Amino acid sequence: LMQIAIPLNFIGFIYREIRQGLADIEEMFALLRVPAEITDKPDAAALQVQDAAIRFENVTFHYDESRPILKGVDFEVPAGKTVAIVGPSGAGKSTISRLLFRFYDVTGGRVTIDGQDVRDVTQASLREAIGMVPQDTVLFNESIAYNIRYGRVNATDAEIREAARMAQIHDFIETLPEGFATEVGERGLKLSGGEKQRVAIARTILKAPPVLILDEATSALDTHTEREIQSALDHVSQNRTTLVIAHRLSTVVNAHQIIVLEGGRIAERGTHSELLEANGLYASMWARQREADEAEERLRAVRAAD
Ligand code: ADP
Ligand code: MG
Repeated sequence: LMQIAIPLNFIGFIYREIRQGLADIEEMFALLRVPAEITDKPDAAALQVQDAAIRFENVTFHYDESRPILKGVDFEVPAGKTVAIVGPSGAGKSTISRLLFRFYDVTGGRVTIDGQDVRDVTQASLREAIGMVPQDTVLFNESIAYNIRYGRVNATDAEIREAARMAQIHDFIETLPEGFATEVGERGLKLSGGEKQRVAIARTILKAPPVLILDEATSALDTHTEREIQSALDHVSQNRTTLVIAHRLSTVVNAHQIIVLEGGRIAERGTHSELLEANGLYASMWARQREADEAEERLRAVRAAD
């Protein structure tokens, strides 16, 4: 019996290893959201980053032919500057970030970094140049340290701690039973949305990419956490070409340019003060947000008085 039991045991072990491996690969694809049809051209060269200027030239895009999503979007993010995209839900904001990362190919126009069409360079070199903090971070079923180190696999423990500190997550990690060795993800400790996002920010700080995409998911967070994340994000985006998709307008006040996207078109663009002056869509969004913030403030004051 023993003679059979051992091999069966061994097969069980192999089976579990393979299953774990498959789960990790699935997760990685979910994380990268790479549609299978995106491939490198046979003669694709590595992206040559000079100062990392981004251009969207008359870009059109649809996921499904019957429903155009972007209808001629034209803008640039000059080297080292921050451009914010705001607009109603479903306007196509996240789609813009996916096209820059080349999760999908444009259906018209082009997207370039330092003059190179993202479709002409290798995906590996493109993704190496871009740091993305997505709306919904998926963590690996591994330790927190592993999840941060993913940004730069040869980083030292000290560098990982420093990145965590900058992302305002270090002290939280220290309170966990096993600190940086604590397993997280679906099979480990479940982190809140804000905690996961800060792990993603730490990962990106470690990666230190020339281009940064931030798809802010701060709307569901409390004001305190949001402020902490905001200061972490400000820190990473300094002097780095940054495209930020902002849900809260308070985070875009200092952007070099704000683009207001509505129904797949650029409805307005300018600085915060220019857009307030123009008294259009942005100005009304700003007024509405101010009202909501004030209501929240009053509610808090009432609760505190109780
Ligand atoms: P935003 O970020 O401005 O809220 P998105 O860029 O995520 O908007 O989405 C724009 C539109 O494209 C939405 O109507 C959304 O439902 C649709 N969409 C987003 N992703 C997909 C997808 N993978 N397949 C089909 N439609 C999608
Ligand atoms: Mg979005």
